[in-house]
Amino acid sequence: MLPDLRDDFPILTRTVRNGRPLVYLDSGATAQRPLAVLEAEAAFSREHNGAVARGAHLLAEEATDAFETARASVAELIGASADEVVWTSGATAALNLVANGMLQASLGAGGAEAERFRVGPGDRIVVTELEHHANLIPWQQLAARTGAELAWIPVDDAGELVLDGLSEVITANTKVVAFTHASNVTGVITDVEPIVRRAHEVGALVVLDGCQSVPHIPVDVAQLGVDLMAFSGHKMLGPTGVGALWGRKELLDALPPSVFGGGAIAIVTMETTTWLEAPTRFEPGTQPVAQAVGMGAAARYLMDLGMENVARHEARIAQILREGAAALPGVRLIGPVGDPERFDVLGLAAVAVEGVHTHDVGQVLDDRGIAARVGHHCAQPLHRRLGLTGSTRASAHVYTTEDDAHAFVEALAGVREFFG
Ligand code: PLP
Repeated sequence: MLPDLRDDFPILTRTVRNGRPLVYLDSGATAQRPLAVLEAEAAFSREHNGAVARGAHLLAEEATDAFETARASVAELIGASADEVVWTSGATAALNLVANGMLQASLGAGGAEAERFRVGPGDRIVVTELEHHANLIPWQQLAARTGAELAWIPVDDAGELVLDGLSEVITANTKVVAFTHASNVTGVITDVEPIVRRAHEVGALVVLDGCQSVPHIPVDVAQLGVDLMAFSGHKMLGPTGVGALWGRKELLDALPPSVFGGGAIAIVTMETTTWLEAPTRFEPGTQPVAQAVGMGAAARYLMDLGMENVARHEARIAQILREGAAALPGVRLIGPVGDPERFDVLGLAAVAVEGVHTHDVGQVLDDRGIAARVGHHCAQPLHRRLGLTGSTRASAHVYTTEDDAHAFVEALAGVREFFG
């Protein structure tokens, strides 16, 4: 386990409903921020605020340095180099950046270099049945607008991806395979290797949604062998309004931009524009600089803790949450169970309580000061596949204690009794 880090997170000292101490178990939706992040953001705003990459004055230079140092920290967290990290407003924006870039390419942008991004009738776009809507809808839209076909890797009755028939789903005409590294509902880490192998065998790009993995386990993009990866600041102890797209540099340099404006350009005439190299070509307009600085500080905080230690901590919380929930009568733990090494990795447990609506479960938890997520967690197809309309999710982070996890299980034990 990590040492008790609660003193680093001021919000955790507050009381909530009924004067109870806050038990924060909604980190999968948005994580709390340590002082190191809050102060980095505030210090930037107080002392260094200026327009990045544009001014000749000292503040502009300091702001640019802070912005780029943050980029380097975020890159270091995922084993990448800074020029491969594009700032976005979050993972949703990062995934849209790729899908919309492919749409631009399909409309003819980017010349010969953008050929690998083009999709059209007869091509396939592959996702999985357990994606967060942020990694499903952009691909649905790309398919609808280009005439390509959308296909998906299915899940089984337990909610685990079925990787047996990969070559039937990732066919020779597949141009892109987009999937999550860790499910925000089941918490299961995807077996990336066979999907990447098959995708690359047919020349398809691999886009990984790292939203739920980067904040919790060691992630090294080179080791994973993927081509692009999206993740969010606010799920990794950083601010909202900022996230990142990582991509191999030569790919980013060839992907056509889809948001246009100042700062991202090399030459503009009245008729045409040429763009700068990545990452700048994807960062037109004024960027969320203070938030980026905060995300950089969050990356540094996590690296100082050590991602192996973070992962060990999460696994211990997972064990309490998941074993505890699975043992309760009338409580169904969503997702595969029974193999702790594979399934109890993220400190996350989504449950359905027999005969009780998920919002009512949330209410009982809230009355006890426990903040958990209720609903479909932006994964309607997965819930539908499992015969559910929603679930109640507890999700941990580095500040979560064993007591927090026990409090969730105890409160859950009382839910059915409460509703008779
Ligand atoms: N992908 C996954 C797996 C997520 O859990 C989330 C957020 O819940 C997202 C994508 C979208 O992230 P954001 O809302 O930060 O853009």
